[in-house]
Amino acid sequence: MKKFFYMCLSGHFHSQVHCPYDGSKSDFTEIVERALDEARRQRLDLSVETLVSLGVPRAALKWAMVVEFGSSEVAFDAMAPASTEVRGTLKPQLGLDGEEGSVVSQAKR
Ligand SMILES: [Zn+2]
Repeated sequence: MKKFFYMCLSGHFHSQVHCPYDGSKSDFTEIVERALDEARRQRLDLSVETLVSLGVPRAALKWAMVVEFGSSEVAFDAMAPASTEVRGTLKPQLGLDGEEGSVVSQAKR
């Protein structure tokens, strides 16, 4: 089972439109959700490339991920990692605040 996850400015990953931890949402929500609906309708294999082929700009997917779970029973909807290792460097929290080219807004519900 595969799921698409947005990453918010605080480094949370969520499959829902709004981050359940802080209420933020991606600037690209509409186009991503439309592509996810189309992928389901056409029964396409979910991947970043599938979403690009359905018209989602690569910039919208830079901070996203598609996860394949071993079982739908263990698939989660969101996670808030306490730390992340990036290219061998342990970071306390992966976030996009101040990141050049950030693709996420803090629009609240
Ligand atoms: Zn968040």
